[in-house]
Amino acid sequence: MFKDQEGNYKLKVAFDYDDTLTDDVLFQLAKRLICKGHDVWIMTVRTSNEQYLEHCKRMNLEPKVEGRNEDLLKDAKELGIEEKIIFTDGEDKLEFYQEHQFDLLFDDDADWHTNPICEAGGIGIHL
Ligand SMILES: [Mg+2]
Repeated sequence: MFKDQEGNYKLKVAFDYDDTLTDDVLFQLAKRLICKGHDVWIMTVRTSNEQYLEHCKRMNLEPKVEGRNEDLLKDAKELGIEEKIIFTDGEDKLEFYQEHQFDLLFDDDADWHTNPICEAGGIGIHL
């Protein structure tokens, strides 16, 4: 939580992407939060294109980057948060949640993400 220039409290909020921010209701919520000065991020277990290229290089595979994460990057651009995307590359989100000091995470996965965050004292909203 932080205070804006008017002294109002604002949140640092993360949205999962697949089956969360892809839902129009939640996309509109993210838009609204951004509009009201909250610090909104995308946190996904997807692999970024950079991470993917590194994996390919390490495993000696021919990369196919075309179209990768196109949907996510397009939505992030529409929200104006292209610089606020965390790709956990298959890792669970608790550590990233804590490291980035989020106030809450919206996610459709309870077992893997929101439950461990709640158990650690954070706020994971399962929807
Ligand atoms: Mg999801």
